[in-house]
Amino acid sequence: MNFIETRGNDGEHSLKVSFSSAILAPIASFGGIYVPEVLPQLGADFLQKHVDSGYKTLAKNVLEAFEIDIDSQVIEEALSLYDHFDDPSNPVPLEKVKDDLYVSELYHGPTRAFKDMALQPFGVVLSSLAQKRNENYLIMAATSGDTGPAALETFKNRTNVQVACLYPDGGTSDVQRLQMVTEDAENLKVIGIHGDFDDAQNALKRLLGSATFKAKLKEKNIHLSAANSVNFGRIIFQLIYHIYSYLELVRKGAISLGDKVYLDVPSGNFGNALGGYYAMKMGLPVEKILIASNKNNVLTQLINRGEYDLRKMSVISTSSPAMDILKSSNVERILFDMFGAQRTKELMENLDNDNHYELNSEELTRLQSIFSADFCEDEEGRQYIKEAFTRGYLMDPHTATCFKAYDTCRDKSLTTIAYSTAEWTKFSPTIANALTGEHDASDIDALKSIAKEANISIPDIINELFEKEITQKTVIDKQDIEKEILAFL
Ligand SMILES: *Cc1c(COP(=O)(O)O)cnc(C)c1O
Repeated sequence: MNFIETRGNDGEHSLKVSFSSAILAPIASFGGIYVPEVLPQLGADFLQKHVDSGYKTLAKNVLEAFEIDIDSQVIEEALSLYDHFDDPSNPVPLEKVKDDLYVSELYHGPTRAFKDMALQPFGVVLSSLAQKRNENYLIMAATSGDTGPAALETFKNRTNVQVACLYPDGGTSDVQRLQMVTEDAENLKVIGIHGDFDDAQNALKRLLGSATFKAKLKEKNIHLSAANSVNFGRIIFQLIYHIYSYLELVRKGAISLGDKVYLDVPSGNFGNALGGYYAMKMGLPVEKILIASNKNNVLTQLINRGEYDLRKMSVISTSSPAMDILKSSNVERILFDMFGAQRTKELMENLDNDNHYELNSEELTRLQSIFSADFCEDEEGRQYIKEAFTRGYLMDPHTATCFKAYDTCRDKSLTTIAYSTAEWTKFSPTIANALTGEHDASDIDALKSIAKEANISIPDIINELFEKEITQKTVIDKQDIEKEILAFL
């Protein structure tokens, strides 16, 4: 399977690249990104055959359909990381919350958020490619709190790979920060920045595009890559759980094979939703994909009005910070799939230059045939958290946005899979506030009060974080990032 470019070809990049090239160098011509040339069709009997498959078997066979240039032992090793999830026989549990609403829990990996679903296996694939090619890589990541810990966790102590992770100092929860600053492997560098997530992300983009930075890395014999979801190596692992959760519904007797469902996805950079879209195009019976946002509601506007308009917007901090994003990078892959490379280039250039683009009415109709969208204010989210808790379900503020979309975006009463992207332990002050009304609790106090309220215990891996030595102490100004990274290398 080859990969092609969302904004067409500039004559310098290759017209088509292999999967391994696309993940080692994820930026394509004109600042575009890579997409599969064709999506494999799974066929009706694929789902039938996998009704009783475990997660890893399903994953292996989905990946095989893509015919990627990765050795089967490497894929096997990558998938074996799901054995470290809470329940190796069922790494993505599906819980019924009410009526026809089921929650697919994507957070049972080592860092307690859904980024592990893709980054865990991705770490193995990327480092084995680097080893095989006998090349060294610097993987850069900018994080608002979940990508950072998951990237550090997956790459720690792997050979031929070093990681530099940028986070906004003061912009993450205590648990998220501790997950990063207590990492002590020698190939990891964690850098706090005076600024917000956009500053971190902009610094990352600048370095990824900087010829002088790359030249300095080259002197040290190091290549540069990125671990965010512009990398197709993450997306490919995010298709699988949509198919798995659908089959879980069949196994539970909630639907019959072939019945359509809604996928209800809390969205930021649109990686999770894109995985659902690709699964649907490959043959998963999906009625529509519901796109849940917080008050940073660019995706709601795009899907409801056909306009991507950042001209009067700036990022608002909400209680679902992993979705505090305005430039949602994977929307580009949807534009490409629906409207082709030429139109995608035009729209993305408008966005880069004018902070704005507008779809025509035909394009909007097409988009709305697949997606519906709504956004959820923080206060509404707290109500949903409280209401779910009275039904015996504890959830985080990102997951809560899906409950709003479930109420407002469906026109048929079909079974719905909402995706839960983080464990309660990662956003405890908001949840404690929703459950007990307490304000401004520290993470550790909020964890204790939720544990008491819900009669559960705080998981050991979270408790231990508060005891661990802080080894990553760097906090600097934006302009010193490059120097700091070069010194680390
Ligand atoms: C990353 C993240 C999201 C957003 O996922 P995208 O794939 O970027 O849309 C939602 N919730 C949590 C907790 C996350 O960490």
